[in-house]
Amino acid sequence: MTSMLDRQTSTEQALSQRVFNFSPGPAVLPVPVLQEIQRDLLALPGAGSSVLEISHRSESFDAILAEAEANLRELLDVPEGYRVLFLQGGALLQFSMIPINLLGGQGLPASYIVTGTWGRKAAVEARREGRVHVAWDDADGNYVRVPNAGELDLPEASSYVHYTSNETIQGVQFRRPPEAGGSPLVCDVSSDFLSGPVDVSKFGLLYACAQKNAGPAGLTVVIVSDWLLERSGSDLHSMLSFRLQAEKGSRLNTPNVFGVYVFLLVTRWLRDEIGGLAAAAARAEAKTGLIYEVLDADGGEFYVPHAEPASRSHMNVTFRLRRTELEPAFVAAAADRGLVALKGHRSVGGFRASLYNAMPMEGAERLRDFMLEFRATH
Ligand SMILES: *Cc1c(COP(=O)(O)O)cnc(C)c1O
Repeated sequence: MTSMLDRQTSTEQALSQRVFNFSPGPAVLPVPVLQEIQRDLLALPGAGSSVLEISHRSESFDAILAEAEANLRELLDVPEGYRVLFLQGGALLQFSMIPINLLGGQGLPASYIVTGTWGRKAAVEARREGRVHVAWDDADGNYVRVPNAGELDLPEASSYVHYTSNETIQGVQFRRPPEAGGSPLVCDVSSDFLSGPVDVSKFGLLYACAQKNAGPAGLTVVIVSDWLLERSGSDLHSMLSFRLQAEKGSRLNTPNVFGVYVFLLVTRWLRDEIGGLAAAAARAEAKTGLIYEVLDADGGEFYVPHAEPASRSHMNVTFRLRRTELEPAFVAAAADRGLVALKGHRSVGGFRASLYNAMPMEGAERLRDFMLEFRATH
């Protein structure tokens, strides 16, 4: 391994060093997107400067922002009556912004469905703002599945119902949105954003940090319905107000211009190279299917999957070894084959293979082959 401080002499040398990166986030980006960023980093076409050097109120950035939003609306088929916001502060700032804007003044609790680490953290922030009702929390079951409709303990009305479509750390994913009983549905889609079609009309608000499946860290995309936006008070701190951010078209202050630009390139790639979100979903299922097939092949004797089959994620595959003492050897042998960042989160242990949109099929095949080989030799 060369060190980060060594100089690379050519683009070819850099390309040849790329590994299959299963990082949960910041995560792999499509190579054609990286190449386009690299090429246009000296000058954007027509601008004479890079995206890092132009005003966020220039015509060039106007066009970038407009196309990023248009591509997102096209890919997700966002209906009329929804605003798209490009914010900063990550998903974690949304854990606070959502209750700050939507919880007060309703006289109703916010209900949280907790299927893993991120949902639990979201509920912690909401409690600072008002009443929180936990409609389901499977901590005792170790977060291996999502609830069935009958298991949700929802009050008659909630100011909103929050859930996490894909729990990145546990590898647990909803196949369809839960029933919110007529209350506005709010969803953290950070780690399965743009991985498949979503019926946006079912939601009051969707939010995602970009660094899992859609771009670099530091950009957060919020899709919010006009009717929910009405709740956002005008006396809030400006930067924390959905209403003001929407009124100013995501340019209340300097937005993450580079993040928006990369997001634009990723959405183009998704549309033109992958063929849209239905194709992305089929691809994600095929890639993770290869890994789940290996996990299921030995009935838990060697590999032990974390999530129950019906709740398994098509983005993050979580598993352990029956003989946990072999886990360091697994990580080391995988890295030798250019398969990196497979170590699981410390709260779950074992391994997590994140197979976001930009992970090529070949990466999933190589991981499968390695897992078969590791089992055969141990
Ligand atoms: C990564 C992640 C977060 C945290 O995102 P930040 O941008 O680091 O705040 C929250 N929720 C989910 C589902 C995630 O995957």
